[in-house]
Amino acid sequence: MSLKYEPVIGLEIHAELQTNSKMFCSCSADYSNAPDPNIFICPVCTGLPGAMPVLNRKAIEQATVVGLALNCSINEFNTFARKNYFYPDLPKGYQISQYDLPIASKGWLDILDASRTEYPMRVVVRRVHLEEDTAKLTHEKNSALVDFNRAGVPLLEIVSEPDMRSVEAALSYATKIRAILRYLGVNSGDMEKGVLRFEANVSVRPSGSSELRTRTEIKNLNSFRALTRASAYEIERQIKVYENGGEVVQETLGWDEARGVTVSQRGKEDAHDYRYFPEPDLPPLQLDRAWIDSIKSGLPELPDAKTARFISDFKLTPSEAQLLTSEQTLANYFESIVAKSKSTAKTIHSWIAGEFMRYMNDSGLALEEINLPAEKFAQLIDLVTDKTISGNSGKIVLNEMLNSGGDPAQIVKDKNLAQVSDTGFIQEAIEKVLSDNPKEVEQFLAGKETIVQWLMGQVARATKGKADPNVAKELLVKALEARRN
Ligand code: ADP
Ligand code: MG
Ligand code: ZN
Repeated sequence: MSLKYEPVIGLEIHAELQTNSKMFCSCSADYSNAPDPNIFICPVCTGLPGAMPVLNRKAIEQATVVGLALNCSINEFNTFARKNYFYPDLPKGYQISQYDLPIASKGWLDILDASRTEYPMRVVVRRVHLEEDTAKLTHEKNSALVDFNRAGVPLLEIVSEPDMRSVEAALSYATKIRAILRYLGVNSGDMEKGVLRFEANVSVRPSGSSELRTRTEIKNLNSFRALTRASAYEIERQIKVYENGGEVVQETLGWDEARGVTVSQRGKEDAHDYRYFPEPDLPPLQLDRAWIDSIKSGLPELPDAKTARFISDFKLTPSEAQLLTSEQTLANYFESIVAKSKSTAKTIHSWIAGEFMRYMNDSGLALEEINLPAEKFAQLIDLVTDKTISGNSGKIVLNEMLNSGGDPAQIVKDKNLAQVSDTGFIQEAIEKVLSDNPKEVEQFLAGKETIVQWLMGQVARATKGKADPNVAKELLVKALEARRN
């Protein structure tokens, strides 16, 4: 990227809430498990005349939880507004949303920007408001199908200030919002199902300037990959426009994943185009301060707080702690192993971050789908820590447990993996290795000490990995020295 320009990014994030019923009616909100299209519907969510909306208490609670977790002030006095526009997936001809009085505003989130030195940086959360999702359109060759099961599902919109200065920062912010929503249990974060969607507002300006230039808005980014690729593409495109003496036009863009380009959808609409006006069928919503406070005191420990605690309690580095706190279930798993094991937290972290995560990646399984009780994992790690088995054997046992279950001590027995510090057995193997490799012994005697490592490898092979490496090394060096003169 040209150093003469600096990107400016603001994100709008739409998150469906995990309520049982829809935002303004009692229809099921579980549309992704609906057996058929257009069955979770009623006069309210299909916009029939005279049908009256009723607020979903649970959705208000979840929105409040999110607002508090993002350090926002919760507005006690809330109103709803109609955002008018025509689209076939919007049966009422308007979306009920919040406009001038959102449920939460003026919060912040600290993130890391891998491309910069500031550490961490703060993104201001402008507002969090409640609205409803639209129906789902499926485009066919010469027609379009509409499914109203999703119409009216509670939707939260989280709007940031244009505070991000790189694609990495935008990714870090989006990733953290997703983690927080999952910690709070208000959104599954399952982007393939469309429950979490990003809109990136992007502009570029000369580096060092503080002006806000004309931005474009890229709609409906359904994955982190789409978010980063689309933003990066748009930054480069705008830089080229300025370098060629042109002006960026404010517009709404789509992202063409296959071609890897942003495409113009329409000129940017302004708020007045929607002719927002107060929703006449919903009275203002007054929240009780004591109720807000009780929600606040019930917030779970969030990723940042957990990371800080892991660093201080377990003596982990920030990046080790962050890896473990990226998912609440992973953090809990780690803590259960720590509680059941005699090994250090650092050691347990390396088993999780190494062999265990490799298995997760290779198998594509989620933590919840892996059947390895924390207690068994702890026992295995302890077998390595107390030198009953070598680290390599530990990996074999772990993979055996992951693939077929079982008890670590039993697997060690069945596979005959117990490490031997019996010096006679090791001594015998060393003598054989040395007589089989006279050239290497010569090299050692001529001063090439690094050859010891290679010989250690031969000893490990000869003992099938069962020799205690410290004992073996000591005996090997002794045997070599004995061959001098
Ligand atoms: P509205 O859509 O209500 O007019 P804004 O246009 O101010 O509100 O902001 C919508 C989103 O665009 C916000 O996330 C904001 O941070 C972002 N944004 C506003 N101006 C810019 C800009 N010049 N460059 C990048 N993002 C911007
Ligand atoms: Mg927008
Ligand atoms: Zn309904």
